[in-house]
Amino acid sequence: MANIVAIVGRPNVGKSTLFNRLIEQRSAIMDNESGVTRDRHYGYGEWTGKYFTVIDTGGYVTGSDDIFEGAIRDQVKIALDEASVILFMVDCHDGVTGMDKDFANIVREIKKPVMVVANKADNQEKAFMASEFYELGLGEIYTVSSANGSGTGDLLDQVIKHF
Ligand code: GDP
Ligand code: MG
Repeated sequence: MANIVAIVGRPNVGKSTLFNRLIEQRSAIMDNESGVTRDRHYGYGEWTGKYFTVIDTGGYVTGSDDIFEGAIRDQVKIALDEASVILFMVDCHDGVTGMDKDFANIVREIKKPVMVVANKADNQEKAFMASEFYELGLGEIYTVSSANGSGTGDLLDQVIKHF
């Protein structure tokens, strides 16, 4: 089975920022070869010799107020069908929101590894706030800053164990 990592979560938590970080270099080279520039939802990454595909599921759930459960299910269904590991992203700046809980209730039904990724932990203070996400009841919290890259190597170390 292919190694596929899907990133799900409500808008603006940083899914696309993490996506771009995970696929950097390798996918950029591939894009140069094809000569195509486009809004990409699939990319390719490599970590310590393991190759994987990353899916940025953002864009399927848009807006912040007009969310409906069906839209979340559509996004998660893509992850369910294709992914070998699901990264459920939340935002340390905002803490637990109602929409995070909606996502959590859906991803908890998935019979695949789900890793809670607390993004925007740009500094110690924000990283400390990530413990709030244990309340989602999805186990370990992986604290990262997709913007500055801290924690993403530790996250990948754990992700590739599922391949
Ligand atoms: P998406 O809607 O989940 O794909 O979120 P984006 O990747 O588009 O990011 C939403 C906003 O959060 C953008 O303004 C990003 O620059 C910002 N952002 C993403 N990751 C981080 C991070 O680690 N730290 C901070 N401070 N901002 C971030
Ligand atoms: Mg996005």
